[in-house]
Amino acid sequence: MARYTGPSCKLCRREGKKLYLKGDRCTSGKCAVERRPQAPGQHGAATKKLREYGMQLREKQTARRYYGVLEGQFKKYFEMADEMPGVTGENLLTILETRLDNVVYRMGMASSRKEARQLVLHAHFQLNGKKVNIPSILVKTGDVISVKEDSRSNAKVKELIEDMQSKMTPKWLEVNKDAVSAKVVALPKREDIDFEFEEQLIVELYSK
Ligand code: SF4
Repeated sequence: MARYTGPSCKLCRREGKKLYLKGDRCTSGKCAVERRPQAPGQHGAATKKLREYGMQLREKQTARRYYGVLEGQFKKYFEMADEMPGVTGENLLTILETRLDNVVYRMGMASSRKEARQLVLHAHFQLNGKKVNIPSILVKTGDVISVKEDSRSNAKVKELIEDMQSKMTPKWLEVNKDAVSAKVVALPKREDIDFEFEEQLIVELYSK
């Protein structure tokens, strides 16, 4: 599937906020948003006041880029969220959080969602004991995600397992750092998501 392969930092500068797409660099002084906060391009420095549609569009792009999801798939997630009981915007964020690549990132096994996606694509993980290589799979309560036994000797995976030991993990995941696994003990709620989305703007955009 086609995927954005351009510079990640440009996406953050376009949205005017940190989207944490590059792992450790994002929390260092090298972050492009901190060094050059204006939007990219010739007219990036000009301050534009966004109208209602512009704000809704920017919020959708922020969420899409934060989770690394393409336009078509994002729209499908919105349709799923809209059919679920409860608040559509919150449902949408729950769906995005439960993508397997995001879970691998949240359990501390990758420094970014992009890296998590690569690890899943290279089949380093199991879902409920079975090999899995689809980053967009949505996990459910009770699912267990673990690193495949024969991947643990892989140099890169070994390094990531070491890094994982010091990482904070969300309460909806029960992470067993010794077993390098995580159990989904509940679906993530709005308050579990540590990024300031205005999800209602996305709902308004798609409801036009
Ligand atoms: Fe975004 Fe990270 Fe680049 Fe900063 S370093 S602009 S947060 S991708």
